Amino acid sequence: MADQAPGHGWSDSSARAVLQLMVESVAEMVGFEVAVLSVVLDEELVTVAYTGPEEHREYLLESDPVSVLDSVLAAAVSWGPRLRFIAAGTHGELEGHWVVMEQEAPATADAWHPEDALLALLTDDTGTPVGILSVDKPVSGQRPDDRQRDLLERYAAQAERAVLTAFEREELLAQVGHAEAARRLIRAASTAPDASVEAVLRLTHGPLVEGFGASGSWIQVFDPAIGYARSRDGETVFITDEVLEVATRQALLLWAEQRCLLVTAGESNEVSGAVHALLADLELWSVVGVPLGVGAECVGFLVLTRRAQDPAWTQGEIDSALEIGHDLGAALTTARALERERAVVRELQQLDDYRSHLIATLSHELRTPLTVISGNLELLGAHGLDAEAERFHAAMTRGTLRMQKVVDDLLLLARVSHPQHPLVRTPVDLRAVVDDVTMLVESTARSKGLTLAIELEDGPLLVLGDLGELDRLLGNLVSNAVKYTPAGGQVRITARRDEDDVVVRVADTGLGISEEDQAGLFSAFFRTTNPAALSESGTGLGLAIVASIAERHAGRVDVESRLGEGTTFTVTLPVAGE
Ligand code: ADP
Repeated sequence: MADQAPGHGWSDSSARAVLQLMVESVAEMVGFEVAVLSVVLDEELVTVAYTGPEEHREYLLESDPVSVLDSVLAAAVSWGPRLRFIAAGTHGELEGHWVVMEQEAPATADAWHPEDALLALLTDDTGTPVGILSVDKPVSGQRPDDRQRDLLERYAAQAERAVLTAFEREELLAQVGHAEAARRLIRAASTAPDASVEAVLRLTHGPLVEGFGASGSWIQVFDPAIGYARSRDGETVFITDEVLEVATRQALLLWAEQRCLLVTAGESNEVSGAVHALLADLELWSVVGVPLGVGAECVGFLVLTRRAQDPAWTQGEIDSALEIGHDLGAALTTARALERERAVVRELQQLDDYRSHLIATLSHELRTPLTVISGNLELLGAHGLDAEAERFHAAMTRGTLRMQKVVDDLLLLARVSHPQHPLVRTPVDLRAVVDDVTMLVESTARSKGLTLAIELEDGPLLVLGDLGELDRLLGNLVSNAVKYTPAGGQVRITARRDEDDVVVRVADTGLGISEEDQAGLFSAFFRTTNPAALSESGTGLGLAIVASIAERHAGRVDVESRLGEGTTFTVTLPVAGE
């Protein structure tokens, strides 16, 4: 529309067809070969309908500045309210929009001269030209008589109405277009990753006042209570608490009834005097109150204002404002939900940081006295204790070792799950790691009567990572397999390349883990509900450490298990580049 070439988007084809029919009737009924209708668009005189010889059509379809009218009208004789006649010889060369049609030179004084011009000036209510209807080449060869002039005047009046209607339609289409654009913007604002209630309020003011030709907007949200009343150019407008209260009450009512409220200055209606006082104060002529909401909930309201010089609100505009109320309501609700979600995530993150910090500090503080205790226990053991004292000593030593294991595991878990703790990567051959960890469990396995099977694919099984951590990862899985597999069972460790990964499996024929227990398996301090498993000593930290180490090595751990049948843990790690 406004941003397209003049005459192009103007008037949809139905409006153009009406104007075309009109020039054809003018030509036929009044008796001219040529009839042209031009309209003023962006200071240009643009031909929108033409009838006459084909060879002139293209030339007439070019546009001229509207100022070409000035010199023509200055020389014109008024033949009626709209009709202007410019006799040959009374003007200089007709510039621009006018073509001098090839005609015979006139024989009498009443005859039409090729340089005669006859046009009707079409204006709006304020007298501003909106277009011209011009005719040329009378069929009779004569300058028009009174009857023809009268008829032409009447056609001109009709053409004027048709052009004004088309303009109004055009404006309406533009407005509908803007409302549509405002809706799109509201949707976009609500899906932006950093969408916040503030951002939605900030971004929608411009398109809303633009789209509705409003002199200002006021958007208020109830929870969190924020709102802005702004003039078209963004200046803040102060709103009293009383008006806010009235508007809030109204909005809830309007949302329940799914309608907007039009308040016009001086007209008494549903709102209190405070609102009318504000209208007078701000020199506003009318406001439309639009409730914003989703489902049954009204989340706020929108008020659009117009001044006395602005056009009156149409029903179409009010209807589309209510739709905007739905879109904006949904956008604000989404933004609010996102904001709350972000706040919860932030809180959880802080809580998690605090927890990690607490664990790390505590374990650290416990470590020193534990070292002192175990050192002294060792010294005490060398003192030749009697049988009873020996029993007490053994119990204290077991307890201390257990505490040391918990503290060590806690410290390790805090380290490997800390996002800022750096991972130093070097090429690590998992074949060597598997060898190392099996060596450590071999004697326990043998004394328990378990068979250990190891199957490693030929060739290197290289990954990039921290040797110590990878050792702990596989060590925990293998020692669990040995721990939770009763006598006579088997533990099998396999490792192979699978495309871009190295896959290590630790499978046992042991106790197995129920499906419910599998869900929490990798959380810290988790121990299964299986009494047979609980009878083994453990901290519940081993698998949490396994999961954290795998994660920081860009790998993962999966479990497959069936209670009473056995368990398989599968570790997948990206293979080191060649
Ligand atoms: P724990 O120190 O208790 O072994 P883990 O985090 O290593 O802690 O293991 C958590 C729980 O998962 C164990 O208490 C045990 O019940 C169960 N579990 C781990 N590995 C196995 C396995 N191979 N077979 C059966 N249960 C297992």
